[in-house]
Amino acid sequence: MKFCTVINCMDGRVQLPAIKYLQKRFDAEYVDSITESGPNLILAEEKKVLLIQSILERLEVSIQKHNSEGIAIVGHYDCGGNPAHEDEQLIHTRKAMKFIRQHYENIEIIGLWIDQNWIVHELTT
Ligand SMILES: [Zn+2]
Repeated sequence: MKFCTVINCMDGRVQLPAIKYLQKRFDAEYVDSITESGPNLILAEEKKVLLIQSILERLEVSIQKHNSEGIAIVGHYDCGGNPAHEDEQLIHTRKAMKFIRQHYENIEIIGLWIDQNWIVHELTT
């Protein structure tokens, strides 16, 4: 069994697109989902300490228990938790990737943008 992990929005519209993309991207059978409302903004701002702690605790379970081989952070169109436009959200997602990378140096971390047609785009670094 191979796992990867997604830090995704709780928005129902982006669950399946993210999971399907990541199963292929990491050749993973299962995608552990950590969901918040606008998680790219939460991790970029580093203001909501309890939420961040909760995200990191769940990430640790996914990595320790499931040997997750990759982490994805998602931003998406029409997000209730992060109403910023795409350009600004991409900055948030990159900041969030940097933050997670401080905790996990040896695991691949990617960023995703899910557009108005619910198509998944991987951020180029
Ligand atoms: Zn959202």
